[in-house]
Amino acid sequence: MKVVKKRQKALKSNCDILPTMSKQLKIYTIENKEEEKILREKSVPVKEEQFKDSKFHEFLDNLLYTALNSEEQDNVPAGGIAAPQVGENIRVFYTLNYDTDKWQLFINPKITPIGFSKTSTIEGCLSVPNIEGEVLRYRKVKINYQDKNGKRKTKKFKDINAIAVQHELDHLEGVLFIDKMKE
Ligand SMILES: [Zn+2]
Repeated sequence: MKVVKKRQKALKSNCDILPTMSKQLKIYTIENKEEEKILREKSVPVKEEQFKDSKFHEFLDNLLYTALNSEEQDNVPAGGIAAPQVGENIRVFYTLNYDTDKWQLFINPKITPIGFSKTSTIEGCLSVPNIEGEVLRYRKVKINYQDKNGKRKTKKFKDINAIAVQHELDHLEGVLFIDKMKE
């Protein structure tokens, strides 16, 4: 998900948290037919043994690095990124927490709405260049997920943070925000 309001400060402060070895991955977009195929695929869960794999951890670092440097590929900073957006169909995404200005990682996430209340905002996406639109989503959600060590955790989000995790979870199902956009 892209942030319509600029969050430069958060991006700058987060750049220090990554190993200098991290590299920027290519962001897949719907403008390329082959890339769109990957974006439209349902992603598979991360397996228990992968949590101990250094290649997997390298990928996690590179994925975050790519989000932090997304301004170079697109002029609006990212507020979230999912693994299929760099060509890996695995159930992993990051979002920027708008309350704490920190990036958070979610592996094998499951989202449950809290209540029936919905809200909408203007969304954009690194994989859908030059389009923004209003999408209706649950206002409050609970997310169950695993952290980078495989530890199971639960968090609750509302408003923009809830919208961000729902946008990214859709990527893992092969769904893009344009599919849900209001006319
Ligand atoms: Zn997106």
